[in-house]
Amino acid sequence: MFKALRILILLGILLAVAMTTLVGRWQAQSWKRPQVVTLYPINASGDAATDFYLERLDAAAFAGLAPYFQHEAARYGVSLSEPMRIVLGSRVRVAPPAVPRDAGPLSAISWSLRMRWWAWRQTPPSSPVPDVKLFLMYHPPDFAGALPHSIGLEKGRLGLVHLFASKAQQAQNEVVIAHEALHTFGATDKYDPSTLAPLFPEGFAEPRQEPRYPQTAAELMAGRIPVREGELRIPSALGETVVGPATAVEIGWVK
Ligand SMILES: [Zn+2]
Repeated sequence: MFKALRILILLGILLAVAMTTLVGRWQAQSWKRPQVVTLYPINASGDAATDFYLERLDAAAFAGLAPYFQHEAARYGVSLSEPMRIVLGSRVRVAPPAVPRDAGPLSAISWSLRMRWWAWRQTPPSSPVPDVKLFLMYHPPDFAGALPHSIGLEKGRLGLVHLFASKAQQAQNEVVIAHEALHTFGATDKYDPSTLAPLFPEGFAEPRQEPRYPQTAAELMAGRIPVREGELRIPSALGETVVGPATAVEIGWVK
């Protein structure tokens, strides 16, 4: 009897989660009202220089994002004057759960659940109510080695975005934030994970260009500009990127 009841409760929870995910996806991709993307800065390395940077960080550091999405969405016929509203939230002082080293599906699911729980605990209700929560993990500009991989999750609609705490990097930071933001709307990566080379044609800003190289912009979800065969360049600002048609379909800009 108790066992049956337990199973029933579990099924109920699973159904509720599935429904929330479905409704969330429908909400996210209907583009009937602005989607609120709230950014929560975190000092990932805990150093004084990053603290100094974060104390002075204001919305101006992210001012390019909303006009960029408005411009790109309009090219696909989305008529909202503000498809995405970018809001700078409060600083979060507690580190997120560590990303698992092994790539097993179970540890990924467990991490994603812990991440959602942590995100819920660390972000008290705010106005406007966030549709997407991006946690900006800031590192000092002299950070040794490559930054950890950023992650944007469609399920849970949140992301961990690794950035450099430097004014000189702000324009490039916006590109990384835009890329991870679109993951939370269902966009997939459009590059080869082993070589980082954009996939052809969906990862090219101008796939029909003749000759194919050099490209002068990056498809946002490919993340790099293919300058010539085997040579890539990281876009320096959003102005050097476009949202390609395959991505536009994935996020619901094209029905
Ligand atoms: Zn990505």
